[in-house]
Amino acid sequence: MSVGLIERYRDRLPFAADDPVVTLGEGSTPLIHAPTLSDRVGAEVWIKFEGLNPTGSFKDRGMTCAVSAAVREGAEAVICASTGNTSASAAAYAARAGLRCVVIVPEGRIATGKLAQALMHGARVIALNGNFDEALKLVREVVDRHPIALVNSVNRYRLEGQKTAAFEIFEQLGAIDALCIPVGNAGNITAYWKGFNEVDQKPAMFGFQAAGAAPLVEGAPVANPQTVATAIRIGNPARWEEAMNAMTSSHGAVRAVTDAQILDAYRFLASREGVFVEPASAASVAGLMVHGAGGAERVVCVCTGHGLKDPDTALDQVGGVLPCEPTLTAVESAVLG
Ligand SMILES: *Cc1c(COP(=O)(O)O)cnc(C)c1O
Repeated sequence: MSVGLIERYRDRLPFAADDPVVTLGEGSTPLIHAPTLSDRVGAEVWIKFEGLNPTGSFKDRGMTCAVSAAVREGAEAVICASTGNTSASAAAYAARAGLRCVVIVPEGRIATGKLAQALMHGARVIALNGNFDEALKLVREVVDRHPIALVNSVNRYRLEGQKTAAFEIFEQLGAIDALCIPVGNAGNITAYWKGFNEVDQKPAMFGFQAAGAAPLVEGAPVANPQTVATAIRIGNPARWEEAMNAMTSSHGAVRAVTDAQILDAYRFLASREGVFVEPASAASVAGLMVHGAGGAERVVCVCTGHGLKDPDTALDQVGGVLPCEPTLTAVESAVLG
């Protein structure tokens, strides 16, 4: 039986014993040793596969907490701006809790799987003729005017839930030297750093942004962020200072990886390690492959979302299927060819 993370870590989360809990059994995701990647980069590398959460991304860790708190506070509706995974997760947990859910996504930039999830879970999906940063600014204004709970990672319960991934890594591996993680709105790296600190761990935090959406690397907001890794297509991260503090005080760094490097790592993970992640998730591995992790010996790469989220990008990256007539000769030549 899988218990959700509020139940697993209630003593370290802002929930009392009799508080309502909205859970889909999130957390407790596998930490997968990556031997081929380890050889390639000359370190012991593990993948924290967050794509195996209930809706296919780490957002579920934060959402069980944000939606449980919203229910505790008597909310009837939740809202978020999203590059995709937050909306899928918010829609699922809201459905579970019987709350209305509204999501605002950048038009045409959300991966197919994520859109299907939000719609199937019954959310009202608004496609904004604008980018994520504009969507977040607008939903913040909406919640100032209406009694709707905001479940973006500016919500403190999101980070509380997400920090539990650091607990799991520590429980399983003990001390690690470095954590590599993709950075978009910068909530997750902030949450991991909080979690590690709560168990007295200080791994070097290496954050990786897509080169076309790398405000933290450039030191200034990016007006028109562009990248194939849509989940981190963000030009003005909400948790900017906290993320920079995590990287600086842990002696890590923030670096950029190009879309080509992200897609190389994406194919490498799927074809050589058997782990299919979405493009944004491959940014952590791309960063490790391209920039290293400061000479760390034991490294965890966070792979934030599942590859099935974005089938279109996957199919763009690989060869097609082989057509074949239904005869033994044709099948043999196709099989052995
Ligand atoms: C949300 C998300 C990110 C970025 O996380 P932030 O907390 O916004 O930095 C990275 N990868 C995936 C798959 C995501 O859904």
